[in-house]
Amino acid sequence: MKRYEAVVVGAGPAGMTAAVYLARFGIKTALAEQLSPGGLLLQTCEVENYPGFPKGIKGYELADLFSDQLESYANLTRVQGEISELKIDGERKLLHVDEDWLEADSVVICSGVRHRKLGLPNEDRLLGRGISHCAMCDGNFFRGQVVGVAGGGNSAVEEALHLTKIVSKVHLIHRRNSFRAVPLYVDRLKSVKNVVFEMCTVISALHGEKELEGVSLKRLDTGNEEFLPLNGLFVFVGFEPLSRFLPAEIARDEQGFVITDTEMRTNLPGVFAAGDIRSKLCRQIITAAGEGATAANAVNSYLEHAHG
Ligand code: NAP
Repeated sequence: MKRYEAVVVGAGPAGMTAAVYLARFGIKTALAEQLSPGGLLLQTCEVENYPGFPKGIKGYELADLFSDQLESYANLTRVQGEISELKIDGERKLLHVDEDWLEADSVVICSGVRHRKLGLPNEDRLLGRGISHCAMCDGNFFRGQVVGVAGGGNSAVEEALHLTKIVSKVHLIHRRNSFRAVPLYVDRLKSVKNVVFEMCTVISALHGEKELEGVSLKRLDTGNEEFLPLNGLFVFVGFEPLSRFLPAEIARDEQGFVITDTEMRTNLPGVFAAGDIRSKLCRQIITAAGEGATAANAVNSYLEHAHG
């Protein structure tokens, strides 16, 4: 069993920043990466609000820059695989990765989130057959066609904007009459011609056998239902935490996000959390990175204290 002073779980902006800071403290660190480094950044078309990039930067380019910064530290090991269990054994933390276990003095949980589903029958079956959670990855499959986008937050509005450049028409389907997304993006979307705003409307059914053929729209103000033919549907109705591997005793909010203090300490000594997995209001790349740095600082203090 390999032993580390710190194991970081997840290689999104929070995890990669935590890993750089831990390495620079001289801490023997492992960064567990399930997929390519970047997390949700890899599904982000354009990042316009990350400081230092006044003209914006593609999500995958920013992910590569984060990842490149990890390369020069001899005390940082990158471990490929999914952490399926975190066990707390007194001061020792044990992490199950594929067929192996890692042992750590401290853990930084940066496992992030996954897209929430609409919760409708057929949704799982039609995922990848017309239903998607990534305009950047799948938008081109619908070139010149008609798609729906569900949601009213920043993700839905930004991804809808991206899709308007590819498809013939976007139906933006949102359950309320006002948006959660920042006005800058909403105004931009409103100025585009090939968008139809389906407000106060929810999707009540998904139709299609081999692939999505359309959705039933329910108008919440009138109660009317109608069929809307669609080639594709992009669902952006928020996120849920990737936290199945966590021990039951870790404190979480009612939605399952991990509760920390301002130093990113959880209720379990030596266990820290940063980024989208945390219970908080603001989910941004910059806040994830900042929390990664804060968590690394707290790990350093914890290890200094623990080791005397
Ligand atoms: P979000 O802000 O939680 O918005 C989710 C949207 O989906 C809301 O409009 C919500 O409606 C709607 N919704 C939720 N459940 C639904 C359901 N069952 N059926 C229909 N609609 C449903 O999620 P997000 O847009 O993915 O953003 C998540 C976080 O990432 C936010 O903190 C956001 O600011 C951040 N983010 C930032 C950027 C950026 O800064 N450029 C880009 C993307 C995401 P209600 O409005 O009625 O609740």
